[in-house]
Amino acid sequence: MKQRIFLSPPHMSGHEQHFVQEAFDTNWIAPIGPNVDAFEKEIADYLNIKHVAAVSSGTAAIHLALINLGVQQGDEVLVSSLTFSATVNPIIYQNAIPVFVDSENDTWNMCPELLRFAIEDRIKKGKTPKAILPVHLYGVPAKIEQITAIADEFNIPVIEDAAESLGSKVNNKHTGTYGKMGILSFNGNKIITTSGGGALISDNDELIQHARFLATQARDNFPFYHHTQIGFNYRMSNVLAGIGRGQMKVLNQRVRQKNEIFQFYKSLFTDIEGVVFCETPPNSNCSRWLSCIVIDFEKTGGKTPAGFIEALETDNIESRHIWKPMHLQPVFNNYPAYTNGVAEKIFNQGVCLPSGTAMTNNELQRIANVIESYFS
Ligand SMILES: *Cc1c(COP(=O)(O)O)cnc(C)c1O
Repeated sequence: MKQRIFLSPPHMSGHEQHFVQEAFDTNWIAPIGPNVDAFEKEIADYLNIKHVAAVSSGTAAIHLALINLGVQQGDEVLVSSLTFSATVNPIIYQNAIPVFVDSENDTWNMCPELLRFAIEDRIKKGKTPKAILPVHLYGVPAKIEQITAIADEFNIPVIEDAAESLGSKVNNKHTGTYGKMGILSFNGNKIITTSGGGALISDNDELIQHARFLATQARDNFPFYHHTQIGFNYRMSNVLAGIGRGQMKVLNQRVRQKNEIFQFYKSLFTDIEGVVFCETPPNSNCSRWLSCIVIDFEKTGGKTPAGFIEALETDNIESRHIWKPMHLQPVFNNYPAYTNGVAEKIFNQGVCLPSGTAMTNNELQRIANVIESYFS
């Protein structure tokens, strides 16, 4: 059996163990300590944002962001339908109501026109949405300037899910820094990893301060343990922040490598009619966390995502369907949705290709061989 090629495995820089060792040597084996402080500062400098709160996961960061905005029982949150369930679950943790917004054809992200329609319709139905939660899917920036402009018109705060888009920019400003708050993920498969972790980012002092308070079991400032609110245990370990510091040293390199992988796929598919990539908005840089394609059944003479995924699997290569839209998930299909068929079409036609930055030329050649033989 050939060695397995994974979709997007962790890729260590070699610097991580130094920072982890430092945590051990100084006995900072806790959810607080010098690695956490330094990791937060390094991300803040990289993104050019004032505050970063490192937390236990991207999901936790979304949960804290929602609580920060006062999202509670019965409140509505407008959210991208084409995403990972982790974007939506924290809305349910708050007993609030996700209202799904479909995608646009070019970037696959939340359609600004449909967003405007959804806001006006929710207001007409008697409720102004409490927050808007767009996603920068697979690292491709959403039309975030348009989205935040619409949100401002209606005075609704934006939380950007930048879990997949660390390193992506629009007009030279990082994704995640356009909204009132943004969230990042350092899960094992993301562009950089702490094995598991996330961050809440914002320019607003109070919001980050409150998030830190909530993430630390909402412990009030008293000489004894005193609580006036329900809190969470959502902080990041100082050991894991050490991994993050090692990863920060190669973040720019990883973004470059991800883009090289994307170019590799682009050139492979140029001569194959009926296979297209999603487009980036004007003046943007894309992390290309995962390279993805959509396959037109007719134009390719009957090729399908399932068939292609199976052909790759036969050579022990991992690939994946595009996220199944949230409004089509059994667990969410009772919630309101503003749809145009785009997300469903992308799901039916889309494949995420192996995008690991440690892939060798030999491995890329194996993938190229499967692509050539499957699509010929
Ligand atoms: C990974 C991911 C998350 C959640 O991050 P975790 O760190 O795994 O909790 C949220 N949204 C999107 C779009 C993601 O890809």
